[in-house]
Amino acid sequence: MVSKETAAELVEHATQAREKAYARYSNYPVGAALLTKEGQIFTGVNVENSVYPLTVCAERAALFTAVTEGYRSFEAIAVVTRDAGTPCGSCRQVLAEFGLDIEVIIADTKGEIQQITSVAELLPFSFGPDNLDSSDWDAG
Ligand SMILES: [Zn+2]
Repeated sequence: MVSKETAAELVEHATQAREKAYARYSNYPVGAALLTKEGQIFTGVNVENSVYPLTVCAERAALFTAVTEGYRSFEAIAVVTRDAGTPCGSCRQVLAEFGLDIEVIIADTKGEIQQITSVAELLPFSFGPDNLDSSDWDAG
């Protein structure tokens, strides 16, 4: 579990990021802030598209940015929405790829943390890297 202060810091980053969300179709802006084990914070917002399925969620935007920058170990992610919504199924699966123990902090736009959970709790009986024989994959 991250400290109360770290959780609040992540919520603050997610709240600020949320202002940049491109949510013109859903009008449901989302901000996310992902904390790496090294202490780096990466933010993400939902980026919608007129071809709806091409939309990318805030959680995945943050995670893909972090991976692009060379980070693969994550401690926690804060997600901020107006009603403290939880990550969608796709984001739960993508987060699970990098660890079922990632803490998930759910907050609303008033900065109130409504729930602290984990990827394991959000995605029970998950399918993941251990299901595939990828032991000879060169992680680079
Ligand atoms: Zn999602």
